[in-house]
Amino acid sequence: MRKITVLSGGIGGARFLQGLLHLLPDADVTVVTNTADDLWVHGLKVCPDLDTVMYTLGDGIDPERGWGRRDESWGVKEELAAYGVEPTWFGLGDRDVATHLVRTQMLEAGYPLTAVTEALCRRWRPGVRLLPMTDDRVETHVVVADPDAPSGRRAMHFQEYWIRLRATVPAEQVVVVGLEDSSPAPGVLEALAGADVVLVPPSNPVVSVGTILGVPGVRDALRATAAPVVGLSPIVGGTHVRGMARQMLEAVGVEVSAAGVGLHYGSRAADGVLDGWLVDTSDAADAERVSAAGLPARAVPLMMTDLDATAAMVRAALNLAAAAPVRG
Ligand code: GDP
Ligand code: CA
Repeated sequence: MRKITVLSGGIGGARFLQGLLHLLPDADVTVVTNTADDLWVHGLKVCPDLDTVMYTLGDGIDPERGWGRRDESWGVKEELAAYGVEPTWFGLGDRDVATHLVRTQMLEAGYPLTAVTEALCRRWRPGVRLLPMTDDRVETHVVVADPDAPSGRRAMHFQEYWIRLRATVPAEQVVVVGLEDSSPAPGVLEALAGADVVLVPPSNPVVSVGTILGVPGVRDALRATAAPVVGLSPIVGGTHVRGMARQMLEAVGVEVSAAGVGLHYGSRAADGVLDGWLVDTSDAADAERVSAAGLPARAVPLMMTDLDATAAMVRAALNLAAAAPVRG
């Protein structure tokens, strides 16, 4: 199983990929990354999930924060705030700004995001082929109650919900603007069709993996590939480990549990996308429930505490993939 394709969000996906490369340094890995978190801010195009994967695997990430550059300074952000320009809540570090400047210039010169990402990766050498899910503009917006708005509701960019509101207000609805009209980026469908195995890391099932699956053609490509498809639960013991998967699952009406997410993705034997599902050992009852529903599931430790623990998760996922019935 040398050709591995991974569907990734930001932090959860990036940490999982670190474990994958630790276990299999020579694997041929393609990462299809969520771009629905992307935003334009102060005239710059920012791609949080692509950058988190690129900086993490390229050893430029701030390990404590889990996003942005190590040894960062915040002069640009402070100067912008001194001018009183909005938004002030978005974390735009000085080193990070250089990445966004390069990206924005290239986009404005007409290069697609795929080519821009490839160019940025020439510096960072992440050890994987990093692909955006689409070259088209797609943006996740979150609808929350707002008594001051005429409709009683207000929609905002996902980043505003996450960073400014800290996901503390219930999300009533998640709307992914532009998703239905988007096309997979060049190489995405080929990476799914040509893989030996496809892995779905413990990324956010709604606003990371869910958006990738929503790009027209991706879901069908996953259902059609001869490769086994195995996922790992981002919910451990009934809640997310970090991030806001719980809020997003509640917004789309999916049970917040390892079984709930597994059954939401579903089995390829029915009308879903998975051949196997890993849950944490503390959720062993969920594995039984998911298996009983027709999706083979196992319980193994799923906390990405260090590289070895994460590599063991990857090994368990590959073992489950090897046990899947051969297709095609
Ligand atoms: P984001 O784009 O930065 O939010 O990152 P992802 O979508 O890739 O992953 C975020 C999700 O990863 C979180 O909502 C958690 O549910 C999950 N997660 C983070 N750390 C761990 C971990 O150690 N184990 C498991 N099983 N899930 C984790
Ligand atoms: Ca994200």
